[in-house]
Amino acid sequence: MIYKRSSTLFANAEKVIPGGVNSPVRAFKAVGGTPIFVKEAKGAYLYDEDGNVLIDYINSWGPMILGHAYAPVVNAVVEKAKKGTSFGMPTEIETEIAELAVSMVPNIDKIRFVNSGTEACMSAVRLARGYTGKDKIIKFAGCYHGHSDSFLIQAGSGAVTFGSPNSPGVTEGTAKDTLLANYNDLKNVEALIQANKNEIACIILEPVAGNMGCIPPVAGFLEGLRSLCDANDILLIFDEVMTGFRLAKGGAQQLLNVNADIVCFGKVIGGGLPVGAFAARNEIMNYLAPLGPVYQAGTLSGNPLAMAAGLAMLKALNEDSEIFNRLAEKTEYLHKGLAKVLEKNNITHTINRMGSMISVHFNEEKVIDFKTAAKGNNERFKTFFHGMLNNGIYIAPSAFETWFITDALTYEDLDKTIAACDAVFK
Ligand code: PMP
Repeated sequence: MIYKRSSTLFANAEKVIPGGVNSPVRAFKAVGGTPIFVKEAKGAYLYDEDGNVLIDYINSWGPMILGHAYAPVVNAVVEKAKKGTSFGMPTEIETEIAELAVSMVPNIDKIRFVNSGTEACMSAVRLARGYTGKDKIIKFAGCYHGHSDSFLIQAGSGAVTFGSPNSPGVTEGTAKDTLLANYNDLKNVEALIQANKNEIACIILEPVAGNMGCIPPVAGFLEGLRSLCDANDILLIFDEVMTGFRLAKGGAQQLLNVNADIVCFGKVIGGGLPVGAFAARNEIMNYLAPLGPVYQAGTLSGNPLAMAAGLAMLKALNEDSEIFNRLAEKTEYLHKGLAKVLEKNNITHTINRMGSMISVHFNEEKVIDFKTAAKGNNERFKTFFHGMLNNGIYIAPSAFETWFITDALTYEDLDKTIAACDAVFK
């Protein structure tokens, strides 16, 4: 593949944008090489500035669950845009999407829309602190909840890829209120709660982790957290920015049958426009301004274009009773195919999967938490990434990410992907 034009565009970008990108992991620093500039995308395919066609497994890091340029979403945005792009006043469509989201997701009565997953998680934690009157939070190493200060403590995704899971600029004062636990380790959480009696406002986690690769919760982990929260007046926050409207209509809460107190959304809920949201039962949500004392606001929150995209996306998912089964079946097919060729070529690996989230780890042992995820063979991942790319397959440029399967992918695309993996390691 030739990346001449991408290289030129990247060199231009580097002069005026730090690292040439507006979000670090796009820069290919972890894998080397020049980031690919995309020109357009349709369905399962990316068309880059050099005329290459790539099968996409990133899908804008999750939102495009029905494939790129999904017509009902695009049309909804175009029609809305003709009527004005932002008002800073209430619009009916905000209620429409809120009603639909509340009807799809268990345990929520009200939802507030924001502009990103970061904002959703940041606001959810503030609400939990305001509601409980306590300051400390528990988060898990390797989980990523956006880039707000309290979460950049052993954060996953780009933060770990770039060696700054604890970012400079986060004050010690902030960091001391974030207690760190190991994913899938209930005993560890229990000990933290005992050592900080009556001080913990909430436990926040990705119910299926996706920012250290994909790591599903072990049996009993989420249920155990639920019980610990109930016994200690702690709110359980599920960060479903990745899993919401992806693992099931009602997200991980529904698929895994565990109730959260506050749920955060992003990605799919915005259909590819900048949207996040957080939701909970009435008694918690009524703590928010203007009803309650916890402040949270946004000039562009509930933006009509974003709401139109999100509504079209949620409607499509809500009306298709087979979509989540179809996605899971495709993911299982890919898993089996990749495992077969990796085994054939004697490549040590672990593949983790849940629903339409999947990741390949070049690890000898099972990957169940950040420590085991970090033991992966990064050199091998680089070879894998570039080899796949040369075969027209675009996966995330870091081992600490999940691949997202979309409805637009055909079994032929999956077969091509499996054949590419075979070719890379032959
Ligand atoms: N939470 C999770 C689980 C995420 O995966 C992400 C982004 N990848 C975020 C929060 C932050 O969302 P955003 O990038 O939209 O701010």
